Amino acid sequence: MKPKICPFCEQDYIYRYFIEKTKEEVFLCPECDSLWFNQKDIGSPRGSNYEDAFNERGIEPTWDDELYQNILYE
Ligand SMILES: [Zn+2]
Repeated sequence: MKPKICPFCEQDYIYRYFIEKTKEEVFLCPECDSLWFNQKDIGSPRGSNYEDAFNERGIEPTWDDELYQNILYE
């Protein structure tokens, strides 16, 4: 298994993130701020902007170090 690289910016890996408030698991790239709600959708076109998605849910658009422990492997 190797870490999945963001298909959009190719500058960082994709990380899993669990949104506690809405119980949604999302996949995001901290480099280009892309976010996908389904693992199968990761790719073109670019995912949602994570800030917008988090704001829509009333969540602070920040993440902690925990994110970086949940790298997505393909
Ligand atoms: Zn990216």
